[in-house]
This record gives sequence, structure tokens and C-alpha cells, in this order.
Amino acid sequence: MYEDLKKRIVEVLVYLESKGLNYGRSGNISVRASGEHIVITPSGLVKSKLKPEDLVIVDYNGEIVEGFNKPSSELPLHLAIYRAYEYFNAIIHAHSIYTGILSVMREPLPPILEEMTIYLGGDIRVADYAPFGTRELAENSVEALRNRKAVILANHGVVACGIDLEDALEVLELVERAAQIYVFSRLTGRVTTLPIDVVEHQKKIFLERIKLRKEQEVSE
Ligand SMILES: [Zn+2]
Repeated sequence: MYEDLKKRIVEVLVYLESKGLNYGRSGNISVRASGEHIVITPSGLVKSKLKPEDLVIVDYNGEIVEGFNKPSSELPLHLAIYRAYEYFNAIIHAHSIYTGILSVMREPLPPILEEMTIYLGGDIRVADYAPFGTRELAENSVEALRNRKAVILANHGVVACGIDLEDALEVLELVERAAQIYVFSRLTGRVTTLPIDVVEHQKKIFLERIKLRKEQEVSE
């Protein structure tokens, strides 16, 4: 089932590794394939070497519907995000470097670029630390994702969410790029965030756009 989607997920995994956005066995991707099924990457294997048939199909209770491998250890995180935020249909979790630095500093990424407020919803929060794969990490991430498209996991990595897989990929690249700019700006000792009124105005545009998309999906 969902052959084209599985092929695209495999391509994205190769792309992430080639761009240094993720590496080795880390990270995971899932997509809502239908109202009943989620396609998710398997646990443990080297992600850029996966074949479409290595991916696992699960239902919304996390039960395996198709596949030979164990689903990602972060399945509880993916399920919790889909349950909490109906407008997200794809999730990429990656261990990228600059968001990784912020995850270790346990500092949010402030609104420093306009594309952050327009496309991500504003600053990117850090979810409170919990060990990987736990329900607690899932809960902390859902909380820190409110009205945003991404969240940094303390001492871990980043989660990027989108209305589809291409959107989630754009979100991941934007967060990592902004994190890189922020980390280097911090080294100069001179960081100025966007004016607060601009941030508030653009956040409203972001939220209206997300809401509008959801309404369009419902009416389709
Ligand atoms: Zn991870």
C-alpha cells in the first residue's frame, strides 16, 4: 500500500543525509496516508539506506498493519502530534546540528527572521527534557508545539510538522537555517529579534492560514 508515498519518504531520507540535516540511524518520518493509516520509518536501521518496503504502516493506535520491521521508537510522539493537531499530515524528526546546539543550550529559537513568523508561527520552543521514545516526551512536545510548526527537543533534536511531507521538509530546512543564523549571531554578541508588533501581526497571518487550510480540507 501507498507505494508512491513510501518512495518519496525514502527520497527525503537520502536528501536529509546528503544535506547534513540528519545522519545514520537517527531521525524518523511519518505521513498520514489516510484516515486509518500512518506510514512511518522503521526503528534502528540506517535511514538513508531504507527501501520503500522497509517502511511500516500502522493504525492510529500504533498497531502494525503492514511491514516487516518494528516502527520508529518515536511512534508515540508522532501519534500524539497527529491526535493533538488535525492540520498536520506529516512529521520529520531529525538530529540536525544547529537545532541540536539549541537543544543542548535548552534555549528557544527567537523570532529573528520574518519567514519564521510567517511560516513557522514565531519562536521555536524547546520541549522539556524526557528520554527518547517516551510518552512524556510526546506530551512535552505536543505542549511546546502549540501554534507552531516545529519544536526543539531538549538534548536531542528537532521535530518539523507540515500539512504534507513537502511542507514538513520546508519547515525542517527553515528551522535549521534560522538556528544556524542565530547560533552565529549569538557568537557576535549582537542579536536583535523582530519588532514585537511585526511578530504578533505575522503570527495572526500564520494562524489564519493554518485554519483556512483545515477548513478547505474539510470541505473537499
Ligand atoms: Zn531522535
